[in-house]
Amino acid sequence: MRLVVDLNKCQGYAQCAFLAPDVFAMHGEESLVYNPRAEEELREKLAHAVAACPVQAITAEGPAGPGHTPGEPGQERSDGR
Ligand code: SF4
Repeated sequence: MRLVVDLNKCQGYAQCAFLAPDVFAMHGEESLVYNPRAEEELREKLAHAVAACPVQAITAEGPAGPGHTPGEPGQERSDGR
């Protein structure tokens, strides 16, 4: 699954690194490094990390199962005429 962290929003709280250390890691005090192509089996941990991010900086999209992408702000926009 694909993962995007909005590093402009990220405040380096490290909640994600705590909850999904296989995917996120802090590099220094504030900068976050992460694996943008996380393993499918880490989905559950990722969902926790997405939910725990205080600034909703993490978006996970994937070969979708049923349901919605956790933590995604309603940003779907159709260009209807
Ligand atoms: S939990 Fe959110 S704010 Fe904290 S390091 Fe992770 S992405 Fe950044």
